[in-house]
Amino acid sequence: MTGNSRVPAPRDTSTAPAGGSCVLLKHGEVFLKGRNRHRFIERLHDNLRIALRGIGGSTWIKGAQNITVVGGEVPPEALVERARRVVGFHYVEPAVRVASTMEEVTAAAVTALRTACARRRVRSFAVRVRRRNKDFPLTSSKMAGHLGARIQEALAGLPVDLTSPDVTLSVEIDHRETYLSWERHRGLSGLPVGSSGRALVLLSGGYDSPVAAHRAMRRGLACDFVHFSGAPYTNAASVYKAYALARELNRSQPPGELHVVALGSAQKQLAVAGAGRLQVVAQRRLMVRTASALAARTGAEALVTGDSLGQVASQTLANMVAVDEAARLPVLRPLIGWEKQEIIDEARTIGTAEVSVLPDEDCCSLLAPPQVSTRAGLPQLRSVERRLEMDEVIEALLESAQVLRPGEDATAPAKGGSCPAPV
Ligand code: ATP
Ligand code: MG
Repeated sequence: MTGNSRVPAPRDTSTAPAGGSCVLLKHGEVFLKGRNRHRFIERLHDNLRIALRGIGGSTWIKGAQNITVVGGEVPPEALVERARRVVGFHYVEPAVRVASTMEEVTAAAVTALRTACARRRVRSFAVRVRRRNKDFPLTSSKMAGHLGARIQEALAGLPVDLTSPDVTLSVEIDHRETYLSWERHRGLSGLPVGSSGRALVLLSGGYDSPVAAHRAMRRGLACDFVHFSGAPYTNAASVYKAYALARELNRSQPPGELHVVALGSAQKQLAVAGAGRLQVVAQRRLMVRTASALAARTGAEALVTGDSLGQVASQTLANMVAVDEAARLPVLRPLIGWEKQEIIDEARTIGTAEVSVLPDEDCCSLLAPPQVSTRAGLPQLRSVERRLEMDEVIEALLESAQVLRPGEDATAPAKGGSCPAPV
């Protein structure tokens, strides 16, 4: 599926078509926001609207207190699939909508339980009612009791279990409409992407940096990406991986750009300048210097890396301090306290592991010394760097950077698709 200009844009409406199926999106942390909550919700809805592009039919979005309702002329499963990728929704629940009257809600509750029983073995149930419309004739607990009794009558005395029911029917009574759901999926939670500003992620082909990017996005940072290849001394495999990773990550945010920088020649210059055991840290400093300059173009206020303290020799505290010293922006490291296995598990959950596992020619292995210094001293690093025309090197790197837009053609499940030209 691709973005299609003929597909009507989702509309925000308080008069969504009456009745039928829809999907309830329960807000995550946005729910805790105070007076400026509406700004977070606006951002959330903008991101949802972008995620629904190209879904293959018209859709509508409706805001209610602490929930968003989405529906349209598309299968609810497709809406669920898209909404689960939008950062900011805690639960995603397929639902039915009926008018907020006793008769309609009761009939829909009985039908809902019948449907659930037809799909799987149900030995017990519970009803939870939330009443946003305080004019509704019954209180929440009275309504729950009423619906429970009607369901039992209709379904041969199906037992109620309030502690661990097989099915929980959730009933949200709004002013004009009531939503009933009995199935829930975990959403991504977190803060709407963009609500915390913009960042530039240093994206390698490994497991760590995509997971770090995903974490940053879940804290509200809209992310662009920069990948350093070892070209002209390495093949394009790492670029293809970075592209595929950025495309996967872009499914959870309004698509960010991928900047590809060929670092090979500059790496060689550092080696010729006698970096020796400092080579890897010197390269990392060059990366954050270049990324800082690039950030001025992308509007990023911070850099993000996949560093985890002590994971490899280049990620000791001393080496991270040396890297930070070369950066013009704060370097955020969402995975600083994570173990490798936790990172790999998370990569599997978010769908980046299958790309990260592929072999490539990483620019960091190119020219890596047999032993990496775990305590790169600033005076030594500076004396190596002085042998290069650093400003010119960075300017040349930026000049030759390639800008790609992974996934902008499709927010649909993004497997395959066009590949970048090798850098
Ligand atoms: P990853 O799994 O993300 O590659 P790693 O364990 O291999 O991480 P390093 O190679 O030491 O760790 O890199 C640390 C961080 O530096 C990466 O997480 C990434 O943010 C950044 N980085 C390393 N290599 C590159 C690269 N080629 N392009 C962009 N960023 C890079
Ligand atoms: Mg790496």
